[in-house]
Amino acid sequence: MSQHTAIAELIDAIGDAHVLHGDSDRARYEIDQTKVYEGRTLAVARPANTQEVSSVMRIAHRHGIAVVPVGGNTGLSGGTWMGDNGDSLGLSLERLNRIRAIKADARVAIVEAGVILQTLHTATAEHDLVFPLFFGARGSCTLGGNLSTNAGGSNVVRYGNTRSLCLGLEVVLPDGRILDILSELHKDNTGYALKDLFVGAEGTLGVITAACVKLYPKPADYHTAFLGFDNLTDALALLNTMQRATGGAVEAFEYMTPNYFEALAKVKPELTQPVAQPYPVNVLMEVAEGASDGNNAPRLATVFEDTLGDALESGALCDAVIAQSEGQRTELWAMREAAYEVSQHRRPFINCDICLPLDSIETYLDDMATTLPQVAPGAEANTVSHLGDGNLHYVIWLDRTENPEDPEHKDRIMQAVEQRVSEFGGSFSAEHGIGVTKLPSMKRLKDPVALDVMAHIKSALDPKRIMNPGKVLPD
Ligand SMILES: Cc1cc2nc3c(=O)[nH]c(=O)nc-3n(C[C@H](O)[C@H](O)[C@H](O)COP(=O)(O)OP(=O)(O)OC[C@H]3O[C@@H](n4cnc5c(N)ncnc54)[C@H](O)[C@@H]3O)c2cc1C
Repeated sequence: MSQHTAIAELIDAIGDAHVLHGDSDRARYEIDQTKVYEGRTLAVARPANTQEVSSVMRIAHRHGIAVVPVGGNTGLSGGTWMGDNGDSLGLSLERLNRIRAIKADARVAIVEAGVILQTLHTATAEHDLVFPLFFGARGSCTLGGNLSTNAGGSNVVRYGNTRSLCLGLEVVLPDGRILDILSELHKDNTGYALKDLFVGAEGTLGVITAACVKLYPKPADYHTAFLGFDNLTDALALLNTMQRATGGAVEAFEYMTPNYFEALAKVKPELTQPVAQPYPVNVLMEVAEGASDGNNAPRLATVFEDTLGDALESGALCDAVIAQSEGQRTELWAMREAAYEVSQHRRPFINCDICLPLDSIETYLDDMATTLPQVAPGAEANTVSHLGDGNLHYVIWLDRTENPEDPEHKDRIMQAVEQRVSEFGGSFSAEHGIGVTKLPSMKRLKDPVALDVMAHIKSALDPKRIMNPGKVLPD
């Protein structure tokens, strides 16, 4: 009865057209892009603005209905899973899609949660500015989802992750109150850093409705190259050399193992591979030319080419293919950004999104080359990595004959991977969050005191436990 009353109240608050309760209307929100997490909702609410989000939350709070925020549904950890019972309310932010302001002189943008990342890129480019968060899902993920997962992507080596790009937030709390900490300030020491609680909380503490984000001068040009090395030590040494030579202008340093290219040739045969034979270590490196100062002569082109030339001459670098046009640059990035399709093309697979200290990565991968066959006979590992920030997507294609769909088998493999990560001082979740996928890892590996503090924060903000229940915190 209470659910029917709640739906009627929601319709009163935001209009019949925006409370989707028919099976076919709800369906597209009930499954995420991975197609792994399919659930059932009571209804999906599509409020148009912050006040309407507040009304929706007040109603859900009064009736004790669980609410699952949904952005672009591109998350990779099951954070938008609605559960099986059909008693949760999906809350789509897609109609909060206004860029409220781009303040070019202050280099900030005030953006609503449902704005698609690529839309923000297009809008900022008109001001010769850039919001430097880039990854393959940018055409469908939303700023609210980016903030809630503290997304990383390819440019963290220069600009940090989404948390570093955010100055302030507007959040609707589980009881419907609006928390206005939409600061545009780079310095604001007025008490606890509340914004940072909601960034990366995966919708478990409140609903982000808008954010103030930092913008940067749009680079005048990019210098992009595909590089082949014998080993990771040489690759990471070149990253440091290039950072020194360019004053820290390396924007991306992305690593792919040789078997990535075998898979790529099957998945995207239309993409031309930059070298006939991949190297043991393959890297896509990008350096950004400073913003245009009216003088079109590129300042870093020579530095970039000379640094690569020196490395080739010394033998530390085996091969370099420099993009000669924007078209060639786009092709190189298309090759790297096919990682999602490449990892999925062989099922079943396990995607471990891990982070390691840069100087431990090579030893860790060597170590895993011995450990993996012991826990997963016949499996094959494939690594695609935001190497510049230590984040590896360590994908394991399982042997189909080894009972691969057994969840306990998968969990044993995950445990082995993550146990070694932890011994090397790394993290079992770098940028994809916890959602439901990594709840067992949280239970096993997260510091118990940290878990206790998180549980208290959750209870303080959401005593009725209606915000995205069952995610992030193990029971
Ligand atoms: C091809 C591909 C490439 C990818 N590459 C990367 C990558 O390089 N780096 C990276 O970090 N991620 C990557 N991802 C993962 C994903 O795109 C990001 O996690 C993205 O930030 C999710 O945004 P979204 O709008 O789709 O969020 P959703 O999937 O809709 O939601 C993600 C989580 O945030 C919560 N949420 C969403 N909106 C709000 C809100 N307004 N308020 C509160 N909670 C909210 C949801 O409840 C859920 O827990 C990739 C995914 C794909 C499919």
